[in-house]
Amino acid sequence: MERMRRLRVSPAMRSMVRENHLRVDELICPIFVIEGQNLCIPVDSMPGICQYSIDRLPEELDRIVEAGIRSVLLFGIPARKDEAGSGAYDDQGIVQQAVRFIKSQEKYRDLIVIADVCLCEYTSHGHCGLVKEGIILNDETLPLLARTAVSYAGAGADIIAPSDMMDNRVKAIREALDENGFVNIPIMAYSAKFASGFYGPFRDAAHSAPGFGDRKTYQMDPANGREALREVEEDLLEGADLIIAKPAMAYMDIIKDITTSYNVPVAAYNVSGEYSMVKAAAKNGWIDEKKIVMEILVGFKRAGAKMIITYHALDAAKWIREGE
Ligand SMILES: [Zn+2]
Repeated sequence: MERMRRLRVSPAMRSMVRENHLRVDELICPIFVIEGQNLCIPVDSMPGICQYSIDRLPEELDRIVEAGIRSVLLFGIPARKDEAGSGAYDDQGIVQQAVRFIKSQEKYRDLIVIADVCLCEYTSHGHCGLVKEGIILNDETLPLLARTAVSYAGAGADIIAPSDMMDNRVKAIREALDENGFVNIPIMAYSAKFASGFYGPFRDAAHSAPGFGDRKTYQMDPANGREALREVEEDLLEGADLIIAKPAMAYMDIIKDITTSYNVPVAAYNVSGEYSMVKAAAKNGWIDEKKIVMEILVGFKRAGAKMIITYHALDAAKWIREGE
């Protein structure tokens, strides 16, 4: 008689047949960098997460390096915003300064620095592209995204991650990177990025809430799965090297579909709202935070994700190492 329980009798037996594992070197830790000095500003809606000025960045970077995490994803919060998001492609912009700082320090030099490319943190209207009479312009935005990518690469970023969801941005960025001698800088495209309520806390953290309307004319409808595959296919044809699916928890089928359809490493972006829900429930004593986080993260691996972008990265790295 078949008895599935034979392989569950002991920790050693369960470990032997375990299909998926979390690895510290597959975790990507997001970091918010803000203009100013001596700042470590807690994000109210994301317990444990702060915005750091560059001089205070080593506190977080030391924790990251000591935890064994090897990649970070940078988001910038500029001092000033304007209609054209010029802070994004200013060579003295906040992300450019942060990247140069990280790469100038011996102990952080081996970190993979992924630079998120978008305009929404830098535009006064908070949209990811240029705006004219209430319309978000696609093609006019592309040169600015490309310019931002080249500027980040010039500062020393290892990977460029466009999150804007304008059509044809990957092509524009790939061409600009190549023309400027950055042929070896990979593009990690937010290809399957949905217009999601799960981004709420991030918009507090990055000061990037849209000033009018919403992002539904460029981000995807949460009801659509097949369309996500078209987005991924487009981005791969345009030159994307890595793909991000965002959010992750309510979209595990999307991760699965991408990884079964395309031979490309996929990152699950475990977004701010997913993080904050877990933190809030844990704070109330309603759930066991460690168990829940590890279960969510291994779920992404089971769905097919290779990398995991998560605000739980530091805790998860500690728990992974404890479990080894
Ligand atoms: Zn954006």
